[in-house]
Amino acid sequence: MLVGAIDFELPPEAEQLRVELRDWLQAHLTDAVIDAAQHRGGARQFEILLEWDRTMATAGWATIDWPVEYGGRGATVLEQLVFTEETTLFGCPTPVNVIGLNNIAPAIMQFGTERQRTELLPRMRTAEEIWCQGMSEPDAGSDLASLRTSAVVDGDSFVVNGQKTWTSVAHHADWCALFVRTDPDAPKHKGISCLIVDMSIPGIEVRPLVTLGADAEFNEVFFDDVRVPKAALLGPLNAGWSVATSTLSHERAGAARLYAMTTRRLRRLVNDLATAPAEHGYGSPAQDPCVLERLGALDVRLAYLKVLCQRSISMALTGKDPSAQSSLAKTVWGELEQDVAALGFDVFGWDGADGSWARDRCTTRSLTIAGGTTQVVKNITAQRVLGLPRN
Ligand SMILES: Cc1cc2nc3c(=O)[nH]c(=O)nc-3n(C[C@H](O)[C@H](O)[C@H](O)COP(=O)(O)OP(=O)(O)OC[C@H]3O[C@@H](n4cnc5c(N)ncnc54)[C@H](O)[C@@H]3O)c2cc1C
Repeated sequence: MLVGAIDFELPPEAEQLRVELRDWLQAHLTDAVIDAAQHRGGARQFEILLEWDRTMATAGWATIDWPVEYGGRGATVLEQLVFTEETTLFGCPTPVNVIGLNNIAPAIMQFGTERQRTELLPRMRTAEEIWCQGMSEPDAGSDLASLRTSAVVDGDSFVVNGQKTWTSVAHHADWCALFVRTDPDAPKHKGISCLIVDMSIPGIEVRPLVTLGADAEFNEVFFDDVRVPKAALLGPLNAGWSVATSTLSHERAGAARLYAMTTRRLRRLVNDLATAPAEHGYGSPAQDPCVLERLGALDVRLAYLKVLCQRSISMALTGKDPSAQSSLAKTVWGELEQDVAALGFDVFGWDGADGSWARDRCTTRSLTIAGGTTQVVKNITAQRVLGLPRN
């Protein structure tokens, strides 16, 4: 179905959570933490962000979507919605361990052994240990099933050889959820396994890549005869594709982050425009009709994005799979974020507004690539939302 209904109202418990969270954020969230989120790759900023994650965990805010048995609050979808809206609008950074908390932890809960669950999840939750996810390779990104990094059984170990790329936070990581080929003769989706790899094992080399924003956020990771214990297997042997595509995410209201992030960025742009000085007799940029026209169009697109996100949340509430709707929202969001940043950059250039719009112009480029490129998401939308044939 193309159009899903938006069908929810916030219950009093969710509004109560909003009040509690706002009070806590007002008391604890500092400008230094908000600023650190703008330079995530810097060493000092990384320490600030890590400290913030630990503060959130100690206060019981780190993983409200996780089940209580794993240290979460078992928050409902609408409580998660409120949490996500408030933390994002306040400028709260996404956790350093975001891939671990949102993607890897649910896979460990679903596929992990008792030992893996009890030993790994608590230290991930409190950010004592950092996790990265080794999926993409130089010749396997959108087509992940073509991955070639190999793991061959030798006694009690797998011997791993190959290369991963774009591995976020690998240069800080203690653990990697690594996707490897364990059966080279099986059809490509069927010969993959997932290993939980201790990043301190000899033979692993991490080489940081510097982004357009001049930060080292992700890496190339090389594996040269790395001996990983067999007990590191997550899920059954050769069933890594199910682990990779596991839709068991407890974070069912993640789409709220999209419209909240863009709302915050657009509000910042409006504020910067309103306070910008008039230049060389041309007046303030806030009085420029071309700027106002672009601003208005962006605001309309933001309203559209919010509807898409709310539809996806409605589906999650009624137990339907929201992934196709969420993918569509993600594509609209990525392009909108880039266009907000482009307007900021066109007005303020490289140096105006402390260079923040130049930085945003660069960093938002990745939003239409990470987590599924726009082209690939459009294919998914064509097939799963519009019902068009695969070809
Ligand atoms: C900020 C950021 C963080 C990331 N973090 C991680 C991480 O932690 N771990 C990890 O494993 N990976 C990570 N990635 C990698 C990311 O998942 C890949 O970049 C993404 O899957 C695309 O793969 P690719 O870069 O190899 O591009 P390719 O798949 O080679 O695509 C190249 C171009 O071809 C287009 N294309 C490909 N297939 C099709 C198709 N079927 N139809 C139409 N067009 C197509 C794409 O849209 C793209 O424009 C990260 C990427 C970014 C930008």
